[in-house]
Amino acid sequence: MTFGLVGTRRGQTVLIPEPSYLMRMASSRHASEKKRTCDATDCNKEASRSVSGKKVDKAGMSLSSDPAKSAHLCKDHYREFKKKTKKDRTLERLDW
Ligand SMILES: [Zn+2]
Repeated sequence: MTFGLVGTRRGQTVLIPEPSYLMRMASSRHASEKKRTCDATDCNKEASRSVSGKKVDKAGMSLSSDPAKSAHLCKDHYREFKKKTKKDRTLERLDW
C-alpha cells in the first residue's frame, strides 16, 4: 500500500493512507448506508417502497418520519398500507 501523507501525533510518526484509499472506504460505507429503513414507528426493516407520507398517515399508520414527505415502507408495512387503503375503499362501497 502506498501512503500519501505522513503526520505526527504525540511524537510518533503516523502514516495516513492515500486519499483515494480513504474515498473508496467512504464510498463503500456510503453504499451500505444508502439502504433505507422502514419509516413506520418501531420498524427497522429495509424499506422497499416509497409512498406519500400523507396517504400513510391517512391510512392510520404512524410514521417516525415527517408525513409531509414521502415515506419509505418495508414490504410488510407496504402490504399493511395497501390493505388499509383497500379496506377503506371497500368499506365505502359496502356502506350504502
Ligand atoms: Zn416496516
